[in-house]
Amino acid sequence: MRFNPKARLDTSRVRDSGRSRGGGGASGGGMRIPVPGGAKAGGSIGGLLVLILFVVLTQCVGGGQGGIPLPDNSLDMSRVQGADSDRYANCETGEDANNDVDCARVAVENSLADYWSETLPDQSDTDFRPEAVMATFTGAVDTGCGQATSQVGPFYCPPDEGIYLDTTFFEDVLQEQLNGPAGDFVEPYVLAHEYGHHIQNLMGTMGQVRTQQGPESDAVRLELQADCYAGMWTANATGTDDASGEPLILELSQEDINQAIAAAKSVGDDRIQDQTTGRVNPKEWTHGSAEQRQAWFMIGYTEGSLESCDTFSASTL
Ligand SMILES: [Zn+2]
Repeated sequence: MRFNPKARLDTSRVRDSGRSRGGGGASGGGMRIPVPGGAKAGGSIGGLLVLILFVVLTQCVGGGQGGIPLPDNSLDMSRVQGADSDRYANCETGEDANNDVDCARVAVENSLADYWSETLPDQSDTDFRPEAVMATFTGAVDTGCGQATSQVGPFYCPPDEGIYLDTTFFEDVLQEQLNGPAGDFVEPYVLAHEYGHHIQNLMGTMGQVRTQQGPESDAVRLELQADCYAGMWTANATGTDDASGEPLILELSQEDINQAIAAAKSVGDDRIQDQTTGRVNPKEWTHGSAEQRQAWFMIGYTEGSLESCDTFSASTL
């Protein structure tokens, strides 16, 4: 992946809350709900990594249990909690993104926002608004969905429209615990998947989730759709212009695509179950198998439309 060195980066939707051991009280009405015993569906990247995320769907988005309405606010950084460090202060250009992984994260967020701000109104009746905030942290973070730690893995929280990410996840969990791939395009795939959940949130798709576990469950359909949306962006990343009309991402290689596919497979439910418990139980799936995740990423990549990503109507996943 190579960024346009002259492109300007926009850090206005990206923040970092620094290192925290957690335990602080959530301000602003964050929900505190006990951690469930089993893995449930959520806006996260992988099934057994989920601890609090079931809250997102069952409590916040109206999974049939008196969901709390989503806020109808425009972009407001203050709703993503925690102080902001200066982690992204020096990310100004695509050249910075080529030389620094933190700035590359900003650039990927910018590209996702540019892509979906065009694509969503083009292909649906949904306006692209408000925009997601991407928040990195180390250790623990308070969110509109409760407190999260690194072990949760990257996730999207609908009430505050935040994508939360402890960047140690990639090495400590994805590579070491799940035998997942390393490489420059692993994180962009994950961010694109989480951004897919933001698109689902805007489109109201999360409210369709009724069944939370199992290979044909709505939860799995939601997750596979997010993979499909990640494929859509990946296919169009180099053709997406920034605010000045220039592409921000100049080059994606086949190696980049292969890394995205390998990452999608490594967070398949069967892979995670096999790596963590040594057995595979489809009844407990929340995100889909490795093969399904690869397949739906590729459908988005090759077809490139919201319609092709309609996992809820698909007879076979
Ligand atoms: Zn997800």
